[in-house]
Amino acid sequence: MENEMKSIRMCIVCKKRDYQKNLLRFQCKNGKIIKFSGVGRSFYICKECINSKKLIKLLANKCNKDKENIKEQIKQISFSILH
Ligand SMILES: [Zn+2]
Repeated sequence: MENEMKSIRMCIVCKKRDYQKNLLRFQCKNGKIIKFSGVGRSFYICKECINSKKLIKLLANKCNKDKENIKEQIKQISFSILH
């Protein structure tokens, strides 16, 4: 039986495994990175990876080919996490 609070998930950037509650959960919708809405596919990112260059590359492949757009979106996400 899976306990939601103890679920282990993996950061898509560094592949580190951690409890689901310690990771940030997002999804990609129409070229936008959004917080997971509860529907559709999602992915996890650990807090240490939010500013990594590898994340930009990964999300450019996954979500939106425009890297500058991805950078801007990540900037806004990390701002909203830190403030
Ligand atoms: Zn990570």
